[in-house]
Amino acid sequence: MSEGLWPGGARCCVCLTFDLDAEWVFMGNDPGVAEMPRKFSQGEYVWRAGVIPRMLDLLDAHEVKSTFFVVGMNAVNHPDVIQDIAYRGHDLATHGWKHEKIEDVGREEETYRLLQTRDAIDDASGYRPVGNRTAGGELSPHTHNILAENGWIYDSSMRGSDLPYTLENGLVIVPSYYEMDDFHLFADYPGVAPYHARMLSPETGYQIWTTAFDGYYRYGLCYTTMFHPQIIGKPGNMILLERLLDYIEKYPEVWFATAREVAEHWNSRS
Ligand SMILES: [Zn+2]
Repeated sequence: MSEGLWPGGARCCVCLTFDLDAEWVFMGNDPGVAEMPRKFSQGEYVWRAGVIPRMLDLLDAHEVKSTFFVVGMNAVNHPDVIQDIAYRGHDLATHGWKHEKIEDVGREEETYRLLQTRDAIDDASGYRPVGNRTAGGELSPHTHNILAENGWIYDSSMRGSDLPYTLENGLVIVPSYYEMDDFHLFADYPGVAPYHARMLSPETGYQIWTTAFDGYYRYGLCYTTMFHPQIIGKPGNMILLERLLDYIEKYPEVWFATAREVAEHWNSRS
């Protein structure tokens, strides 16, 4: 166990994060989905069903602040929703302009899209993102330097530890791993090969996520989720998320933090 890593003598950190993809999880690399009403509606669901207010109400009830990684186009198209997330005290961060692959677009174009996404979120909410999670593919060799050079303080795309770590350029990595990704458990989108899970029982999710928490708690680590509103925001899965929060809240000395708070804390330690 690592001693003294977390504020106030907390034993471990819990960082709830949500990737607000909605329809762009399909459209980012296949604009033709716009002409496929049924597939498109699977992303549109987030907006029409009022998933974000539902999630924010649950987080408010538990007095937990989280991080939403937002696709730039979602900030353009739904500024009221993005504004509400910021208004309720959550961290907003960038998650691609259209949830597209960026590893091959070139440094200049990648920089442009990152800044465009940050500005769109800022324009919608008044909250200027300082975090990023790459969407839809790999990082380019430039991603981390572009972020560090333009005012981002953290990236949450990496898998390289159970604790945050700092790159040579000063960027803090807030890692997560696939057992904390609801897509891998519950997403079942026919015809979308990368997102073709097998719709497991919520009990399986509960077992995976609570057992993971037990381990993160024992070893004093940073438990970071990668949930998606279109998955975790389904009515039954909201109950699952509430059960998870109830479980974690039974443990003493847990520091709930946004990814930004984790990164700022990690920076302040060195
Ligand atoms: Zn995503």
